[in-house]
Amino acid sequence: MTPTSPFTGWLDADPEIKRLLDDELTRQRTTLQLIASENFTSPAVLAASGSVLTNKYAEGYPGRRYYGGNQVVDEVETLAIERLKTLFGAEHANVQPHSGANANLGVYKALLEPGDTILAMRLDQGGHLTHGSPASITSKVWNFVSYGLTPASDDPDHPGEMIDLDQVRSLALEHRPKLIVAGATAYARTIDAKDYREIADEIGARLMFDLAHPAGLVAGGAHPSPVGIADVVTFTTHKTLRGPRGGAILCSEELAKKIDGAIFPGLQGGPLEHAIAAKAVAFREAMDPSFSVYAHQVVTNAAALAAALEAQGFRLVSGGTDNHLVLVDLRGFDADLTGKEAQEVMDRAGITANRNTIPDDPRSPFVTSGLRLGTAAETTAGMGTAEMAVIAELIGRSLRQRNDETALAAVRADVGDLCSRFDPYPSLAGSA
Ligand SMILES: *Cc1c(COP(=O)(O)O)cnc(C)c1O
Repeated sequence: MTPTSPFTGWLDADPEIKRLLDDELTRQRTTLQLIASENFTSPAVLAASGSVLTNKYAEGYPGRRYYGGNQVVDEVETLAIERLKTLFGAEHANVQPHSGANANLGVYKALLEPGDTILAMRLDQGGHLTHGSPASITSKVWNFVSYGLTPASDDPDHPGEMIDLDQVRSLALEHRPKLIVAGATAYARTIDAKDYREIADEIGARLMFDLAHPAGLVAGGAHPSPVGIADVVTFTTHKTLRGPRGGAILCSEELAKKIDGAIFPGLQGGPLEHAIAAKAVAFREAMDPSFSVYAHQVVTNAAALAAALEAQGFRLVSGGTDNHLVLVDLRGFDADLTGKEAQEVMDRAGITANRNTIPDDPRSPFVTSGLRLGTAAETTAGMGTAEMAVIAELIGRSLRQRNDETALAAVRADVGDLCSRFDPYPSLAGSA
């Protein structure tokens, strides 16, 4: 029979992209992945992400679609919703947000009118762009008031640079926001939803918890859950939760209609059902007892990395970590070393991380004085506390000898040796 389809095979038809995918797989395998918002998803998540579900238009929600042919897709999305509700013990789940940013926008749209006041954490103190940064559309539509951290402290018994809950409360009483946002993107400490709940109740505000970073730690029982305490919980599925790139929202039954309507048709068109299938795969993985072991190991590894970095002469913002990340203040290590240069030097040594502002950073957000490091990805690859000490030594060595190409090449070789023992994808040959 003569084939009528124009398609011949997988990526053999596009050697340029095939080569780039192979190159990226090699990069992920042979260099250290320490970006706190990244992880290695399972081959099952990759398979669902790259599936024929990408072909399907499914505007609407299961059982209420605007297009035909959604029998299978309805089952996929329902499975994702039910698994997510079980995973977090939530009344209602929306798995359609294309990203964490869209999840947050959807909640603001559902709960507020343009011009309403939101109290959230300032970007340069650890908050997210969507928490009212001047660069974000959120600050153009809603009126943001921002809280920050307590001052830095040298007293190890009373570390500073923690969320200033007194400030949250006094700003709440002064500005009477309709919505208070908890959660951060560069904060190494536990955020307890109960502290915020009390403040929100005092002024009759709604509480949204942006769980983007620690969602996997909560799912694995390594971190307290804000579900049932906050009115709405948003998160990304690709950070510690180890799923595909995307977002999700949890809320009570009471808010379900408003939240769903804000995502579609309020903010998005057709959902990405291939991504939703991949989310469902990740939610199932996160229900397995092994994921709880993983989540606890992520936290243990971050504590080990923090201690080893301090031994290398680095100062950590807030003096340590409770979660999967550490925020390094580079100024004590070397007053001339910027976050930008540190990131570039480490890139040459095969250590992938991102520069980050530190609280009250004297340098611009493009340059910065800090580094953010996370343990979620390399813990997935199988690394433990012994490897965290090695990583801290490699970081210290590369930054101390940053103008010595021979020394950096030696670090790069040691990074290669370490990574070769912890391949996240032993079952993938290439063209992932
Ligand atoms: C990562 C993050 C987001 C946004 O996620 P995207 O998928 O990149 O849009 C939102 N809020 C917080 C706190 C985050 O850390």
